[in-house]
Amino acid sequence: MNTYIADCLQLAQKRNPGQDLFLQATKEVLESLAPVINETPEIQARSVLERILEPERQIMFRVSWMDDSGNVHVNRGYRVGFNSVLGPYKGGLRFHPSVSLDTIKFLAFEQIFKNSLTGLSIGGGKGGSDFDPKGKSDAEIMRFCQAFMSELYHFLGADQDVPAGDIGVGAREIGYLFGQYKRLTKRFEHGVLTGKQVGLGGSLVRKEATGFGAVYFAQEMLKTRDDSLEGKTCLVSGSGNVAIYCAKKLQDLGAKVIAMSDSSGSIHDPQGIDIDIIRSIKEINRARIDEYEKHRPQARFLPGEKVWRHACDLAFPCATQNELDLEDAKTLLDNGCQVVVEGANMPTTPEAVEELQSRGALFAPGKAANAGGVAVSALEMQQNASLENWTFKQVDERLKQIMASIHNDCRQYGKKYNRPDDYLFGANIAGFIRVAHAINAYGVI
Ligand code: NDP
Repeated sequence: MNTYIADCLQLAQKRNPGQDLFLQATKEVLESLAPVINETPEIQARSVLERILEPERQIMFRVSWMDDSGNVHVNRGYRVGFNSVLGPYKGGLRFHPSVSLDTIKFLAFEQIFKNSLTGLSIGGGKGGSDFDPKGKSDAEIMRFCQAFMSELYHFLGADQDVPAGDIGVGAREIGYLFGQYKRLTKRFEHGVLTGKQVGLGGSLVRKEATGFGAVYFAQEMLKTRDDSLEGKTCLVSGSGNVAIYCAKKLQDLGAKVIAMSDSSGSIHDPQGIDIDIIRSIKEINRARIDEYEKHRPQARFLPGEKVWRHACDLAFPCATQNELDLEDAKTLLDNGCQVVVEGANMPTTPEAVEELQSRGALFAPGKAANAGGVAVSALEMQQNASLENWTFKQVDERLKQIMASIHNDCRQYGKKYNRPDDYLFGANIAGFIRVAHAINAYGVI
């Protein structure tokens, strides 16, 4: 390994003890960068990697709120502004009991390169809380969001930091957060949050964007092999925002999705998942996925099982980090899977990525394949700033163009270094170069 990269990774380990997700993400990015660092001595001379590895700011705060029975709870809130050389911090908020500073730092770090890949003016940030929305009433969700925003609002602004949704945070939560921001600041600033409801400053296609974008990216990958999605069998993990619209677009384009999941287990429907039933169970009723069995007699619920055991052509991990490990990768490959596209952030472990790539499968990292969500968030900011509302078709077309352009950048940088099919390498280089250039352009700040 290049000694500068090795030294920087060692420094990151020393500075961030126990933050395994963050360290995993930094290693995965930095290890790709050797060819660029070897041919660009200014990167080391100006300590660009050291500056990229250190967040510009990390905010942690107490969130006290009251449940419906009058009990007071205390959660922890986070917002990490990792890098703003390309624009205001942009990245979602995650509400999930597993959230720690480590989780938010890994997501914010990934977001820097993802946002750079979109070609739009957005920096990298992420936030969230260890609050568990499961089983909470609507009033409890509202009180939590209000308490969370009561501290966070000091640090937000359309030109400074613009959060959006992620796991556990959708249009309902964004609505409560926006309402509290407006109440506290006395300002109606649409551009301070994205993922708003359509009709309340939100953009058409934002809800669908991450899942649709991952499928558009997969289409581009298949085109390089003169192939298409028509007639392909697919597995999609998760059944949240990303998974639902990934599965929907796959089916719209002629593929068959035979399995989906949530944190309780997976469902297998050999005739193809009925997305409307999943939407009704998960998106509308916020229930568990095992209910799907009641609606489709041929389907089976497999408690605690992942989706990866079934034979498929393409796999789309769309739930959470490190959900597809080495054994899963081997099973997928043995059963004929040739393409893995990450809808979630870092869902594939490094060992699984190596296995997939070494056995000739195409692998698309989340920072490239799931960038459609943040790209449409940026289009939402553009619409808010210009007081315009674009049609579904207009936004969808822009999304397609952005995904095709990200795909092209990954391939071009891969080709330049004789690794045309290595999307992880291409994405890391393409994302990094734009950020490194801006860091140099702005001097030592
Ligand atoms: P949601 O909260 O809408 O859905 C998450 C889904 O993943 C749910 O089905 C959930 O199941 C499932 N899940 C969570 N943890 C686990 C687990 N440990 N094992 C199995 N299933 C699990 O989140 P999103 O769809 O928004 O996000 C999914 C992923 O996509 C995340 O990695 C996120 O960072 C990433 N992403 C999201 C974007 C967006 O626009 N929303 C943009 C880019 C990336 P259950 O219902 O049981 O909790």
